[in-house]
This record gives sequence, C-alpha cells and structure tokens, in this order.
Amino acid sequence: MIDAAVSGISPNVNCLEGKRCPKCGSYGPFEIAVSMRVLLYDNGTNSAEDDASEYGEQARTKCYSCRHEGQFGDFDE
Ligand SMILES: [Zn+2]
Repeated sequence: MIDAAVSGISPNVNCLEGKRCPKCGSYGPFEIAVSMRVLLYDNGTNSAEDDASEYGEQARTKCYSCRHEGQFGDFDE
C-alpha cells in the first residue's frame, strides 16, 4: 500500500475530504472535540443517534500522527 502522505494523493472522500494536517501532511485520522446530544434517563442510561455529534470549522482538532493541534478549519488542504 502506498503511503498517502508521501504520494500527496488524498485518500479522503467522506468526512475528511479536503482535510490534511498542516504540519506533517497526514490525511488523518484526526481527533476532533465534538459536542454531542444524548437521550439521558434519570437512571443514567443514555443513547446517541448516529448523527448526534456536531463539529464545525472551529472545533479543536489534533493530528493523530504528529499531535499538532489547531482548528478543524486549519486542516484544509
Ligand atoms: Zn500531523
């Protein structure tokens, strides 16, 4: 398998399309600080919908490869 960061060809076609670490060039994965909606019950159980997480261009983002931190918008190619 060709290393995407070396080839310069983005493998991302979905949530990370157009995203790349501005420091090391990694195409992900990235850790993103999201806000999330859950259905919380009095006894502590909760459930989350598949689309319950929310993040925007200002979300705190950390590169999994080099640990560079910035905003999600900073990771645009
Ligand atoms: Zn990086």
